[in-house]
Amino acid sequence: MNRASPLGEFELIERYCRRPAPGALLGIGDDAALLQPAPGQVLTVSSDMLVAGRHFFADVAPDKLGHKALAVNLSDLAAMGAAPRWALLAFALPEAEPAWLEGLMAGFFALAGRHGVDLVGGDTTRGPLNLCVTVLGEAPAGEALRRDAARAGDELWVSGTLGGAALALRHALGEVALDPVTAARVRARLELPEPRIALGLALRGLAHAAIDISDGLAADLGHILTASGLGATLEWSCLPLEPALQGLDAALALRCGLAGGDDYELCFTAPAAQGSAIRALGERLGLPLTRIGRIEAELGLRLIDAKGRAMALPARGFDHFASAP
Ligand code: ADP
Ligand code: MG
Repeated sequence: MNRASPLGEFELIERYCRRPAPGALLGIGDDAALLQPAPGQVLTVSSDMLVAGRHFFADVAPDKLGHKALAVNLSDLAAMGAAPRWALLAFALPEAEPAWLEGLMAGFFALAGRHGVDLVGGDTTRGPLNLCVTVLGEAPAGEALRRDAARAGDELWVSGTLGGAALALRHALGEVALDPVTAARVRARLELPEPRIALGLALRGLAHAAIDISDGLAADLGHILTASGLGATLEWSCLPLEPALQGLDAALALRCGLAGGDDYELCFTAPAAQGSAIRALGERLGLPLTRIGRIEAELGLRLIDAKGRAMALPARGFDHFASAP
């Protein structure tokens, strides 16, 4: 425990973090929470840290930051086909500023409430701004969507659109000019990602492997291919690019669409026989689901144009240690 601020660490937790947690046996307030998964379900657990200056601009609106810190974690549960239930929130704050904390937790709890997630614990300390969320969910044993479950011949699918968040980042950095309407749309993709929970749940039994796109389609699909010991061909003309990318320089579209992070869409593989069920699912969810290629026995990732000609893949997605800081 560290001394956090004049507000007081425990007062801060009581005031901003503690809410009723009906889904827990015991929530915030003791040394640890007590949680009981439903019978027949396995726990699905994941953590993601957001560091100021690296994952977000330190002056981002706090409610958007609260949303995003939970959203990127729920996205991991979506990619496993798990139902979210609980979260822990550990943060380091340079100071305990009431209006900022209120905004942060309003964004966090608004998203948590929509997905039935109880905040059941965490940690609070003074330090350079960063937030680490841990989420816990449930999936029936054996039904989780794993990266190593793709099969040769599966079709490759992706939800939503690609490249919007990467385009927003380039716009924020002054590298691309966008009209105000487009700028606002892609900025929302960057700041308010929507975890594809309903999709992940509905893909149990339909899809083989799934992953959420946090580091760019090429890199994240690469994880499925490595884990499954397979390769894939992507069809460039099929990719559901953020519309604003289509009017831009082709190399930029390629980089944002294939190597741009932060979209938090799901990429999944499924047997061809499930194609119509997947299309119907997209209609039911009001979320475009697009077939973008195929899983193959030949190792490696290939990109082809509409005429089947090979295209060069952009440089790999973001890697915190391999990429320039
Ligand atoms: P301990 O010292 O035993 O680790 P703390 O004093 O750090 O416990 O925390 C007291 C209680 O408040 C615990 O239940 C902890 O999980 C919870 N908690 C602390 N910080 C947060 C936070 N940022 N969000 C939610 N719960 C928190
Ligand atoms: Mg303790």
